[in-house]
Parts: sequence; structure tokens; C-alpha cells
Amino acid sequence: MMDRATQLKQNFTIIEHAIRTAEVNAALEKQSVRLLAVSKTKPATDIETMYALGQKCFGENYVQEATEKINILKELSIEWHFIGHIQSNKTKQIATTFDWVHTVDREKIANRLSEARDGKPLNILIQVNVDLAKTKSGVDPSNLKDLAESIWNLPNLRLRGLMSIPDPESDSQLKQSHHYLKNLFDNLKRDHPTPEIFDTLSMGMTQDLELAVSEGSNMVRIGTALFGARAPKE
Ligand SMILES: *Cc1c(COP(=O)(O)O)cnc(C)c1O
Repeated sequence: MMDRATQLKQNFTIIEHAIRTAEVNAALEKQSVRLLAVSKTKPATDIETMYALGQKCFGENYVQEATEKINILKELSIEWHFIGHIQSNKTKQIATTFDWVHTVDREKIANRLSEARDGKPLNILIQVNVDLAKTKSGVDPSNLKDLAESIWNLPNLRLRGLMSIPDPESDSQLKQSHHYLKNLFDNLKRDHPTPEIFDTLSMGMTQDLELAVSEGSNMVRIGTALFGARAPKE
């Protein structure tokens, strides 16, 4: 059996290659799509191994678990992304621990993150509910513009783009969902007071990396394909 480091290296090489191939197929510039390595439930040693291979951005979902790993790894120059559901009593810890937050979907949360942040502005993505009926997280697209406006008025937040977690059950809808989010992104960029900083479309996970890039994603969030399957959460 392969040891863990060898396995992780092989996974990383495969995913890097898949991303670069997807860029070529979508006629994108080289290195225009960023890889966010989703390390939830995986040990700090796995993150260290990936970091040594050249991976600098990691995504975490659970505040307590993430804080412990971030503390262990504080000597490394990792860019930490929060991609989990935000509880309002955790906003302070999120705002002071992470560099990016992908899952802002209401004004109250945005306000609290801005209040708690000091130093460099916190990079924000708005999570959009792209397939309304089933999933409950994410802003309703009809309220997106209002939420974006309130965020770009907050002093300690920098609105960088949009993100989605499409419902995995509506697989046939995935392409439409991605296409839809890309349109919302382009429209909002047109209205943004400083469009050059509105530059990130976070969509695509292990199952739909290629599809997401072909539909305009420039940040893919990959967990399983990099670190292996996760144990089910109790
Ligand atoms: C867990 C998670 C991922 C990674 O999913 P995989 O299918 O394991 O690649 C991506 N985005 C979010 C928001 C997640 O919670």
C-alpha cells in the first residue's frame, strides 16, 4: 500500500492536471483557475503535506475544527477560506481567523463580520441559492443585488464574487445552475463600483470540476479527490 504522503501527492498531481486541462478546453489563460483544497475532517498533517507540494489555499467548514488546525499550522503562509454554514454566534471567530468567507447570504451576517474584522479587509463571496426549491442556504437571486450593495458599503469587507453549492440531486440541472450563476456574476460585475476586485466565481467540486470550469468558474473547491472520502459526520 502507498503511504499517505505518496497518495496525497498522486491526488494533487491528478487534480492539478485536471484543472489545467479544463482551462485548455475552456480556452482560458493558464493558471486562471484556482484550486481551493477542502480539508474539512482531515488532519493538519495532510494539510502540511499538500502545502509542501505547493498548495496554498485551504477551505474549512467547521469553526472549532478549523481554528485548531489553523493554530497548529500558524507558521505556514496558508490562505484560509471559510466555506461552511455561518452561525451568527460564530461570526467573530470567523472574521478574525479566516482570509476569505464564501458563504455570506444575509446582511446581518455581513454586518457582524465587518464589525468583528480588524486589519486587512475580509474577502467575501456571496452564496447564491441557484436551485431555489430544495436547498435552504444562499441568497435568493432576487435579493442578490441588495445584499451586494450593502456589502460593498461595509468598511472591513471586500466583495470578491459569488459562490454556489448546487443541489447534488438535481444533477441534470447542474450545467444550468452554473450557467445561471455565471450570468448573475457578470451582471453584478457590471454594477460593481470597483469591478476589478470582483473577480472570483467559486463553483465546482470533485464531481463537477470540468463542467464548472467550462461554465466560467475560476475557483474550484476540491475535497474528496484530494484527500479521499470523508467519514460520515455523526
Ligand atoms: C465539502 C465541500 C466541498 C468539497 O466537496 P468534495 O465533493 O469532497 O470535493 C466543496 N465545497 C463545499 C462548500 C463543501 O462543504
